Amino acid sequence: LCIPEWPRFTSKMTELFEECRKITDGQVASYIPQLARADPNLWGMSICSVDGQRYHYGDSKAEFCIQSLSKTFNYAIVATDIGADKLHGYVGHEPSGRLFNEICLDAQGKPHNPMINSGAIVTSSLIRLGRPLSDRFDFIISEYRKLSGGLHVGFNNATFLSERDTADRNYAISHYMKEYSCFPKGIASLREELDLYFQLCSLECCCETLSVMAATLANGGINPLTQQRAISAQACRDVLSLMYSCGMYDLSGKFAFQVGLPAKSGVSGGMIVVVPNVMGMCLFSPRLDKTGNSTRGVSFCMVKTRIGSFHNYDSL
Ligand code: GLN
Repeated sequence: LCIPEWPRFTSKMTELFEECRKITDGQVASYIPQLARADPNLWGMSICSVDGQRYHYGDSKAEFCIQSLSKTFNYAIVATDIGADKLHGYVGHEPSGRLFNEICLDAQGKPHNPMINSGAIVTSSLIRLGRPLSDRFDFIISEYRKLSGGLHVGFNNATFLSERDTADRNYAISHYMKEYSCFPKGIASLREELDLYFQLCSLECCCETLSVMAATLANGGINPLTQQRAISAQACRDVLSLMYSCGMYDLSGKFAFQVGLPAKSGVSGGMIVVVPNVMGMCLFSPRLDKTGNSTRGVSFCMVKTRIGSFHNYDSL
């Protein structure tokens, strides 16, 4: 076993989880009704180790739209499909130091990184470039199912429609990027490209599914339940590097400093955390702090380091 004494480990995690339940700071995202209506008290956790041990607690079966968590998987899938060099011809590697939805480009005129909206929109435009939207969506879903080992990945159409209705900023970013030739040749209309981006934000999963997807990243791209390769080894390494430096919005630096693990959060309150070679986990609690990260999720990770030596540099 890569986590010795699994029951003892999971009971420690549960204790910590219950401690964090007391945290009621923060606000549920309210820019679309589907998120505003989320029950702020939901609190779920799932863990999946790279040898397939699983543990679920709290509202681990509650479905939520994955929002920016999709940026992680979309990047890994595109990097596997076309290679990192080609992908990074269009998008950088640097934390932007700006808001996730800011209209800005780096010094080379590229979006800063694939974990913020600008970079994620360009990244999703590279998914099966030139194919019909329906095929591109099918392709992505089947890749997500490889990552999850066939566990349920759904789609919330109401969220998609709302996202599209409140899309001025994402349209503005995209038009700006089009002006600066940030997109590859041969993309569909911006409307279609943004539809795809919003559809991927509107995929719906629960902690149980997302912990397996995170564990696939912890396991070098091979799903720990099916042993099927979902992501190439290099794309896996690359996405973890980007999550480490850019995955938690404007908390990324402090999170890397204090927790020392690659992670990604989304505006619905979901968060994945990867302990390379050990496990993937997903936390879900809809109340967000000022940086847009789940308050309970972040607090849990900040204290989790008490349980095991999970920080990247703990082994020193
Ligand atoms: N749908 C949101 C957007 O693109 C997702 C952002 C997020 O999770 N931070 O604006």
